[in-house]
Amino acid sequence: MLLNPLQARTVLQHAKTNRYAILAVNADSPAAINDCLEAARSVNAPIMIETSLWQLTSHSFGMGDPWLGMKRFMTQLELLANDTCYADIPVFYHTDHIKGDQALPLLNDAVRGLDVQMGGSSFRLSPSSISLDSSELSESENVNAILELCRTAQASNRPITLEMEAGVDDGVTPLEVAQHLIAPVEREFPGAIQLWAPGVGTIHGFSETGFPAFSSDAIRAHCDFVKNLTGREIGLALHGSSGLPDADLERAVQAGVVKVNWSSDSLLLRSQLARGYYSQFGAQLERTHPKFKNTAMDNGLQQFISSSYVPKVAARISLLGGANRVAELMNHLNNHPLA
Ligand SMILES: [Zn+2]
Repeated sequence: MLLNPLQARTVLQHAKTNRYAILAVNADSPAAINDCLEAARSVNAPIMIETSLWQLTSHSFGMGDPWLGMKRFMTQLELLANDTCYADIPVFYHTDHIKGDQALPLLNDAVRGLDVQMGGSSFRLSPSSISLDSSELSESENVNAILELCRTAQASNRPITLEMEAGVDDGVTPLEVAQHLIAPVEREFPGAIQLWAPGVGTIHGFSETGFPAFSSDAIRAHCDFVKNLTGREIGLALHGSSGLPDADLERAVQAGVVKVNWSSDSLLLRSQLARGYYSQFGAQLERTHPKFKNTAMDNGLQQFISSSYVPKVAARISLLGGANRVAELMNHLNNHPLA
């Protein structure tokens, strides 16, 4: 099931209370979405599918138009996540790393709900949870952007669940940054922020030298600080997890991370599998070869990728403690007044 923003809050709070994290995969193709949902189903886990601006404008979705891209992405995910196969799997759609001039107009529209026309009816779709890329924003610009989204939600009477981020690639974020960013939002819109993404020593992309600055103590300190600040539990979102050793990921979850973003490693896996497919079967791509058609069709490539990729995603979900959570989560969602 695709989660609405209130259900998303409930699931995030359940993860915080029960000390596990949800894998958030930056999925850049319809096939990648299928594989992530299949991996979640195989281990009975919730999963987040997230997109950055570059997926929304990509050839697979918006073809240059991020509004079209988000509508197409959400429609596909809504259809798939609500199909019988995945109806019991809590699925988030999260906007990740949306930046630039289009970020606020796009996200404000997403908060109001994007209208999708199907079969003569109109459907209004919104993400489960929202973040924007604050790497190029000052603290006050960051706060103002988040407040603007909250006001849009309030004016349109729509729920909103937000991740707020600091400079995640700039080493460990000082605690006073949490004070500067979260306090003014919490004062005006208590409860809207459900994820906090400070820097904890990881860096986006791959690192040849590992992540020596990674600090689970910083995660714990930020969790304690924001709890004191707001009077409620706010789990952390971990950016830049590709290449972080498994033991550090487990420490991160125990310290209070509830969302682990996964992009570079996932892209590398899928693209290397594609390279393997073409090097193994490339000779069949000749007009006279009897297996030409099966090799050439997208299905051949995607089935090949899926057979290796899905178990790896499932293993990562399990590492974060997300496996076998579905029964208790669905029960929790059904009994929770917010959802
Ligand atoms: Zn990130």
